[in-house]
Amino acid sequence: MGRVIVIETDLDFARSLSYRGETDYLIVHHEDSAGDVGAATVHLQHLNLGWAGIGYHYVIRFDGTIERGRPRDAIGAHAQGLNYCSIGIAFSGNCQDNEPTEEQLEVLPKLLADLKDNWPDAQIIGHRDVADIAENPSSATDCPGVKLYDRLPDIIEQVAIMRGDCNESIRS
Ligand SMILES: [Zn+2]
Repeated sequence: MGRVIVIETDLDFARSLSYRGETDYLIVHHEDSAGDVGAATVHLQHLNLGWAGIGYHYVIRFDGTIERGRPRDAIGAHAQGLNYCSIGIAFSGNCQDNEPTEEQLEVLPKLLADLKDNWPDAQIIGHRDVADIAENPSSATDCPGVKLYDRLPDIIEQVAIMRGDCNESIRS
C-alpha cells in the first residue's frame, strides 16, 4: 500500500451503498468524456441516471490525480454482471480516440499494485472483457478504448514488477 495518494471527494450518495464480499476483478475504464472530467461531475451525471451516485471507485485525471468515487469496499456500478466482485477505475477522457496522458499511465499501475496488495488474486481487465466473463453479450463495449486497452498487458507487467511478483505475468 501507499504507492499513490487518493484525493477524497466526500460525495453524497442518494442511497445507502451495499458492500462487496469479494474482489475478483480490477476493471479499467475510460469515461468516454470529451475532456478532463472529475469524479464530482461524473457523480452528478450518474445521479441523473437515477443511480446512487458515481459508479466508479476511482477517477484518474489528465494530470495523474486520483479521485475517490465510491468508497473502495462498496459495490460499484460500472461493469454489468461483475459489480458485486469488482473495483472500477476510470480514466478521464476518451481513450478510443485519444492517447491517455503520460501522467495517467504513470499512476495506474501504482494504484493497481496498491489494490493487489489487498486482493492479490484479483485480475486486472478492461471493461470490454466483462461481457465475455459475465456471459452477457448485451453489455458489449469498446471501453476503456483501444489506446488504453492495448496497454493493459504492459501495465499488468508493471504491477507485477512493483509488487516483486515475477510470476504474475505468467499466471495472468
Ligand atoms: Zn467502462
